[in-house]
This record gives sequence, C-alpha cells and structure tokens, in this order.
Amino acid sequence: MEFATIANAAGADVTVLMHGDKALRRFHQPFVEAVIDDLQSRGVTFVRNAGIRQLSRDDGDITVHYGDDATLAVDMVLDATGRIPNVEGIGLEAAGVTVTPHGIPVNDHLQTNVPSIYAAGDVIDKEQPRLTPTATFESYYLYQLFSGQTDAAIDYPPIPTVVYTSPRIAQVACSQRVPRRWAQAWSTTTCRTIGTARLTSKVSVIACWYLMMITTWWGSRR
Ligand SMILES: Cc1cc2nc3c(=O)[nH]c(=O)nc-3n(C[C@H](O)[C@H](O)[C@H](O)COP(=O)(O)OP(=O)(O)OC[C@H]3O[C@@H](n4cnc5c(N)ncnc54)[C@H](O)[C@@H]3O)c2cc1C
Repeated sequence: MEFATIANAAGADVTVLMHGDKALRRFHQPFVEAVIDDLQSRGVTFVRNAGIRQLSRDDGDITVHYGDDATLAVDMVLDATGRIPNVEGIGLEAAGVTVTPHGIPVNDHLQTNVPSIYAAGDVIDKEQPRLTPTATFESYYLYQLFSGQTDAAIDYPPIPTVVYTSPRIAQVACSQRVPRRWAQAWSTTTCRTIGTARLTSKVSVIACWYLMMITTWWGSRR
C-alpha cells in the first residue's frame, strides 16, 4: 500500500493484486477502506482475491497471470507478500537453537532454548510488530540485562505502527481486533483529531490519521 501510494504519486499506472479481500488486516478496516477509496480516486486499481498463479517474462515484458484466466502486462512487479526469518546457514542447528517458520522462539528475557544464546529484532518469533523501534528496544534491553542493570523480563511499551499511505493510518499498543475480546471492559471516545480511541487502565488503542499524535505518545513512553 505504501509503495502503491509512492508509485501512484510518481505517475505510474498501479494495480494492486490482493491475496484476499482485505488489505492491511492488522489495521482498523474502515480506515483501510478509506485509504483504498482514496487511492482508487487517484487512479490505482485494486483486484481483491486475485489468486496470482504465475509470472512470465517475454522480451522484457512481464505478464502476471491471476484468477481463472486473467492476465496483466506490467513493467515491474513489487512482491509484498511478507518476510521470512533469515536463519539459514548461520549455524543455529549446530548450536542446537530452536527455529520455527516464524523465527527464533525466546522467553521473556529474549533467551533462546540454549541459555547462553539470546536473540533480538525481526528474527525472533514474537507478537510485537517487526519494526526498527522494536528491534532497538530489544537490543537496549539486552544491553541492560548483560550489564547487570536489570534482571526483569522485557516489558514492551505500547508500540505504534504507521502505514505510510496518504493519508497515513496509525495505531499504538495493539490492533483493534485484539481488544474486541474484552469489549465489555472498554469505553469508546471520539474526538476531533483522533478517529477512534479506546482506553482502559491496562490497554490503550488509538487509531488515528495524525502521525503527530502517535509520535507524541511514543516519545513519552520511550
Ligand atoms: C520494505 C520495508 C519497509 C519497512 N518500513 C519500516 C518502517 O517504516 N518503520 C519501521 O520501524 N520499520 C520498518 N521496516 C522494518 C525494519 O526494517 C526492521 O524491523 C528492522 O530493520 C529490524 O532490525 P533487525 O536489526 O532485527 O534486522 P535487520 O535490520 O534486517 O538487520 C539484520 C542484519 O543482519 C545482516 N545479516 C544477515 N545475515 C547475516 C550473516 N549470516 N552474517 C552477518 N550478517 C548478516 C543483514 O545484512 C542485516 O544488516 C521495514 C522493513 C521493510 C522490509
């Protein structure tokens, strides 16, 4: 979605072939749909449930084969189907470190199943979003742990996530999907700058259009 926004702004003819019927599943869907509507109004085409079958190249032209028998001729394909942990060939098997398809499992001290080996960053199997500030926070936690400044478990602050579309979508703490499980415990507030705010003493979620709101929150918690 971010690259679609950039490419569209740069004048490219953009088609987004979606695996399912929802984009940015972890984000507040009414906001996501508003971004999609906005991109469509600026000429971006979205194909939901595209079911890509094959890419073929002929004299430099790329053809995307999707659906039952649809094709799309393009100059460039951006594959945004996700990232996998880069754990091959670094000796983890020899060291006996457990690895799953989601990364390296760690305990609440970022310790792997081999007590003398710790892991931090995108490579660990975690619920937290794989973002630079998260990796930085984990690295700093390990520095504090190894230098004897703490022996407590890692305690993540509410983590903001921003989708750099235009307008941006931002949320902090956790997605709105999660809190619905505890809906009775929540109150909802709507105000001018924040699209939706749901607050409890333990969990807070804000989905808003304004990056500044999020950075203010993040800055106060770091
Ligand atoms: C397209 C894209 C956009 C993103 N946008 C954002 C964003 O807007 N905001 C945000 O916060 N995060 C963003 N991220 C995520 C962010 O880049 C990662 O969360 C962050 O870089 C994780 O840090 P890390 O140190 O765990 O891993 P990395 O930054 O990936 O660092 C791992 C390093 O290990 C090196 N390495 C790998 N294998 C070996 C080896 N065998 N030997 C030696 N070195 C090795 C790699 O070369 C790399 O330098 C984005 C990621 C992508 C792919």
